Amino acid sequence: MTITRFAPSPTGRLHVGNIRTALHNWMLARKDGGRFMLRIDDTDAERSREEYVDAIRADLAWLGLTPDGEERQSLRLNMYSVAFERLRSAGRIYPAYETAQELELKRKIALGRGLPPIYDRAALALTEDERAAKEAEGIAPHWRFRLDHDRPIEWDDGVRGAQKFDPAQLSDPVIRRADGSWLYMLPSVLDDINMGVTDVLRGEDHVSNTAAQIQMFEAMDARPPRFAHEALLVGSEGKLSKRLGSLGCDAFRERGIEPEALVALLARLGTSQPVEPIADRARLLDSFDLSTFGRAPAKFDDAELDRINAAIVHQLDFAEVADRLPAGMDEAGWHAIRPNLSHVGEAGDWWRLVTGPIEQPDFSDEDRVYLAEAAAALVWSDDPWHALTATLKARTGRKGKQLFLPLRQALTGMDHGPDMGELVPLIGEEEARARLARAAGGGR
Ligand code: GLU
Repeated sequence: MTITRFAPSPTGRLHVGNIRTALHNWMLARKDGGRFMLRIDDTDAERSREEYVDAIRADLAWLGLTPDGEERQSLRLNMYSVAFERLRSAGRIYPAYETAQELELKRKIALGRGLPPIYDRAALALTEDERAAKEAEGIAPHWRFRLDHDRPIEWDDGVRGAQKFDPAQLSDPVIRRADGSWLYMLPSVLDDINMGVTDVLRGEDHVSNTAAQIQMFEAMDARPPRFAHEALLVGSEGKLSKRLGSLGCDAFRERGIEPEALVALLARLGTSQPVEPIADRARLLDSFDLSTFGRAPAKFDDAELDRINAAIVHQLDFAEVADRLPAGMDEAGWHAIRPNLSHVGEAGDWWRLVTGPIEQPDFSDEDRVYLAEAAAALVWSDDPWHALTATLKARTGRKGKQLFLPLRQALTGMDHGPDMGELVPLIGEEEARARLARAAGGGR
């Protein structure tokens, strides 16, 4: 069974990049009846906030990406310590004593010599006595995972294809700080093993982490999961801007973006499949396929999101939006007004054309005569609008804009808007006749 996980750090709201990763992991699991897990990566106690944990859960619920289970790294620290001791006894973890400044200096020297800034393993070369001396000075070590340099690290990436890394070209990753707190690398591996994760799908900024983590899986005698790294998401201006990177789910919701619009866009953005306003998740799931994911950065365009959103709004059923509609607006009202909306929140503006009061334009004398005739000719039926316009067409010889526009202006005060055939029954007989008569009398 496929088991995926979405592993956000609760240090902020989910932004489009995270949402996309969550969605793809959800899709990968759902596509073949697997499990999608939420893992809260909260080992960084200083930056993690409970309010963000709640917000992440709420955002996933809003997006309809319900996890099948949740784990929290802060509740698994014992397990990490046990594994730490095991790897340490096996010689895969060693203490290091450099300060941040010393490491930075080493980095600069390497770069200055035109060399990659790889950790030089000075700490690994320390003798027992030298270590004891450091400890005696009161320097608490941080801890590094010793990469095995003997053979290349290889995997078949679900998006990037065959990957090969020379471990000697990587720094031994720091996995634990001097104060005993954990960095992301090893806990993630231990959780993935413990949670039975079969597929790790994440951004390509994690590719070199994956190389090191594959060795951690092996050091724990576990089979590494399948890995796939998707190209990063960039804004239309070419990078994930500060604005886009900080735009949380709440900002999309407030802007009137439907979760289905975000889902439809992000499901296919950066793939070879066309982005379409598909509200039906089953359809999106059917077509979901990692092999269609491109290597080039996926461009997120707000205007495209707005377009998809409008098209999705036009498909929404009354039941899906009823609690967000103005009081009194019923299913027929929703159907009449829906095609004119780019956001559900605009429904109130159009609904006012039905409930009134409306403001009519000034009409020419000729139009006033015509509108008086309309008021007299209005006969109520299932379809009063088409009956009225047919009658007026026959009686006055008007057609096209001449026939329709004064009527629309008199009945709604607007030059454009929802389908009149649907709107007039909602306005009702009495009010429709009164609006026509008022327009015939001069309007306003
Ligand atoms: N907490 C990590 C992040 O947000 C998780 C990465 C992963 O999926 O392993 O980058």
